[in-house]
Amino acid sequence: MFLGCHLSSTKGFLAMGRQALELGADTFQFFTRNPRGGSAKALDPRDLAALVAFMAEKGFGPVVAHAPYTLNPCAKEKKTLDFARLVLSEDLERLRGLPGALYNLHPGSHVGQGAQAGLELTADIVNEVLSPGETATVLLETMAGKGTEIGRSFGELARIIGKIRLDSKMGVCLDTCHVFDGGYDIKNDLEGVLAKFDQELGLSRLKAVHVNDSLNSLDSHKDRHAKIGQGQIGLEALARVVWHPRLAGLPFILETPNEPEGYAQEIALLRRQGPQS
Ligand code: FE
Ligand code: FE
Ligand code: ZN
Repeated sequence: MFLGCHLSSTKGFLAMGRQALELGADTFQFFTRNPRGGSAKALDPRDLAALVAFMAEKGFGPVVAHAPYTLNPCAKEKKTLDFARLVLSEDLERLRGLPGALYNLHPGSHVGQGAQAGLELTADIVNEVLSPGETATVLLETMAGKGTEIGRSFGELARIIGKIRLDSKMGVCLDTCHVFDGGYDIKNDLEGVLAKFDQELGLSRLKAVHVNDSLNSLDSHKDRHAKIGQGQIGLEALARVVWHPRLAGLPFILETPNEPEGYAQEIALLRRQGPQS
């Protein structure tokens, strides 16, 4: 089990690795560019190489690069789709300097075109940008299903991945807040939810987990993250996820409403829980 949190990338790559280590983490997540904008900073290859060496030395697990929120691969307007295509291909190219990176993507919002059309548009764009030489694995995140979000069920994610030619480069990131809000009861029936995931997607598709408590109740389709133990899922259930034997080896990333000190506390808290009986 690798445990970490979302970090700000403004100070560069090696700085993120060092900060993660200070917080007690052995993985982390960062935005590839301004989450609400688009432009990416010029990338310093030496800084990236320094991070790669640092992570190897410290025994870090795979890191997660999160695509910006403004990227909607199943939008209606051409210019939004063009932006999605551009960002995806640029980000994937930049991630070639970070071997084994996981690139996490929200499958998008169909904005009234219907889920079926949305799934097809998203698969089309991924097919366009994904090339056989890609070193990153593209993860589709499980969504809470607010508004017209697609990827609100394991079945919808399976339908997208089923349309992707280079599907060996595809995986899923399970967000505990999102699946709970989406109606999967990981609080009372984690085994059942994992069995469902395995049945619809195959558990080997699961490459990363976002560990968040939820402010809202099961099936609320809201997507409001809470600190660990301060939401409707609770510490015990989240510790069961983090320490689940079938999920051993995955990176677990906190995206709770915290400053770095709060993340350090939550990382320590989850590590202390140990394997759950
Ligand atoms: Fe996300
Ligand atoms: Fe998430
Ligand atoms: Zn969320």
